[in-house]
Amino acid sequence: MTLLLQAWVFFWGAVWGSFLNVVIYRVPLGLSLVRPGSRCSTCGTPIRWYDNVPVLSYLILRGRCRACGAGYGPQYMLIEAACGVLALALFNATVLPLDPDTFVPAGVTWLWLQSFVYGLVAITFIDLRHFYIPDEISLPLVAIGVTGAFLIPAADPLAHAFGAAGAALFMLALSGISWLAFRREALGLGDAKLLAAIGAFVGWKALPFVLFASAVQALIATGVARLYTRLTGRSNALTLTTEELDAHFGEADRFTDAGSHTVVPYGPFLALAGLEVLLFGDDLLWRLVDALTRLLMGLPATTP
Ligand SMILES: [Zn+2]
Repeated sequence: MTLLLQAWVFFWGAVWGSFLNVVIYRVPLGLSLVRPGSRCSTCGTPIRWYDNVPVLSYLILRGRCRACGAGYGPQYMLIEAACGVLALALFNATVLPLDPDTFVPAGVTWLWLQSFVYGLVAITFIDLRHFYIPDEISLPLVAIGVTGAFLIPAADPLAHAFGAAGAALFMLALSGISWLAFRREALGLGDAKLLAAIGAFVGWKALPFVLFASAVQALIATGVARLYTRLTGRSNALTLTTEELDAHFGEADRFTDAGSHTVVPYGPFLALAGLEVLLFGDDLLWRLVDALTRLLMGLPATTP
């Protein structure tokens, strides 16, 4: 019974992943999410519902259009599968073990956290591709995070409201300081709204970890991406110079006074850290610091 339910939960998440693929492609272009329906980008043939089953259709058709045989990259299927796994992980953490007394509030918490995770997935891939975070996604996420915390009995609403407000204020201050220091927009307001959304869902206590982990992981990823470019001579999607960015978007005047510098989208790393807190707990930073000091001082590890 539970196994059947988990299979359904995975499929449910994968269906959302399929919808997110549409969001990621269409929202930055200002296109409608519902019309027209999905069609092959090569031959324009509308995709039938039975060829649009998340994950399965990709595997059955081996990533090819049924009409013209044009190949699709695996990224659509991977996003569907990732959303299925995330829906299942949240379901296991919030709803299981099944209990008739708590089933409804646990289910509501599950839906609430899913909106957070799906928002993060959409923002991550839009920021990677287009170097911006759409307000249409980040601002509703702030609202859903804070109102949800007031409606869900298990959540401490003030911690979530402070999380959103504290994150926004901190990022605005940081953005102001970096503007004074570099005379250019080093941190976008999109990142501030995203961190506010993350604070709304995980609470203010988790913000130090989100800031710390996102910065460390961004540094590591940027280093790896640059090394890749240096070794292979090919450009990478993560680090672009402002000239490459201008050529990419055809916006020559956006950064003209700033001189050349490397641009890295920060949203994906904020999103990743937010996801880590959600899955592993809001005291992650202190557990890391504790484990590290114990390791350095040769003390035995604590048993939880
Ligand atoms: Zn086709």
